[in-house]
Amino acid sequence: MELINIKHPSDAVSFRQAVMTGLGRDQGLFFPRSFDVLPDVDGLLELDFVARSTAVLQHLIGDEIESAVLERMVASAFDFPIEVRRLDPRVSALELFHGPSLAFKDFGARFMARCLAEFNDGGPMTILTATSGDTGAAVAHAYHGQPGIDVVVLYPRGRISPLQEKLFCTLGGNVRTVAVDADFDTCQSLVKQSFDDESLRRDLGLNSANSINIARLVAQVCYYFEAAAAVETPEDLVYSVPSGNFGNITAGLIARAIGLPCRRFVAATNANDTVPRFLSTGRWQPEPTRATITNAMDISVPNNFARVIELGERHGLPLEDLLYSVSISDRKTRDAMHVLWQSGYLADPHSALGWLALQESLEHGEEGVFLCTAHPAKFLEVIEETLEIDVPLPPALEAVRHKEVLSVTIPGDFQALHEVLRNPSSQA
Ligand SMILES: *Cc1c(COP(=O)(O)O)cnc(C)c1O
Repeated sequence: MELINIKHPSDAVSFRQAVMTGLGRDQGLFFPRSFDVLPDVDGLLELDFVARSTAVLQHLIGDEIESAVLERMVASAFDFPIEVRRLDPRVSALELFHGPSLAFKDFGARFMARCLAEFNDGGPMTILTATSGDTGAAVAHAYHGQPGIDVVVLYPRGRISPLQEKLFCTLGGNVRTVAVDADFDTCQSLVKQSFDDESLRRDLGLNSANSINIARLVAQVCYYFEAAAAVETPEDLVYSVPSGNFGNITAGLIARAIGLPCRRFVAATNANDTVPRFLSTGRWQPEPTRATITNAMDISVPNNFARVIELGERHGLPLEDLLYSVSISDRKTRDAMHVLWQSGYLADPHSALGWLALQESLEHGEEGVFLCTAHPAKFLEVIEETLEIDVPLPPALEAVRHKEVLSVTIPGDFQALHEVLRNPSSQA
């Protein structure tokens, strides 16, 4: 796979280089130079999930990873179920939240972890990240048990929910969690200071496991083919994607570029509506970020949108016909949760928002699928206050609720973190 830096198209790198460096010159995103169409889509749709995903990734990545190795990476990264649930004759839910951190980000984070383990040349490698909850869980689980990689996750002590803390602070092994007596911004600035410390960075092989990494994106292409495999006329499908940073929808458009049969895509946002406004007015005018009940999508400057533009301009995808974007208010999202619940389906707020955008957009002759990006139990509080019901805990949370939290606590200063990073054993 040959990738270019979108900001400097003459900078070309391999998949391995793009995964290891994350971002190119001037913070430019890497993106494939070209896409080939899959040779046998019908045959692909007959396979099971791991075999199909291996074929999709082999097609995208090419010969940089041997097929037996790739198959092993995919089987161990995607070792949890993915479900397509039909809600009515025209609409299905694509449930992507059955992984260890109960959100679709498990797909990208887990495949990227296996890429880093595969590409590591034997030197030290430490994934250092700060979290306000969700990302930390996905990253910690993704790298847990990966040979040659240490993980350090910082979070603000007492400011994440106790269940969230149990989800990623009870793993042990190569995953260390640090409760910082400060807020999330301080955690982030501690991470930044660590990356600025040249000798620390080199000695520990610091890496950020960044969310814009190309490895995450290609992994997410795979599950679009699951919906296509589950319905009778995949060419009529409209995919609705709850969007924040626009990585998920970019993956869908890549799937289309390599031959996914479908009609079109709906990018559903919350009140942070930079993209829907851009698509209707042609002007890119981000406003200050607003807090909503779909907080994983509270982003007003979506990083991945440059890749969507690239798919239109360089790769010739007809975005005017293929991509529609709409903003949904909190009030309408809560109404959608009610309607779904009354029909017997419990959806988290992000998934409900995607469902409503689909419902409003679906035309005669089309069939729809909405991506369910998080397990309802991840957004307990919003669900309980909206629907006034108790949400049952899934096995992943039930299993950890009585485990011991293994985190060390430090004050919010760099010296303390430096000590933890340099002396892993001094604070067991
Ligand atoms: C990250 C996230 C999204 C948004 O996905 P993007 O790829 O950033 O557009 C939607 N829902 C949930 C639950 C998420 O965690």
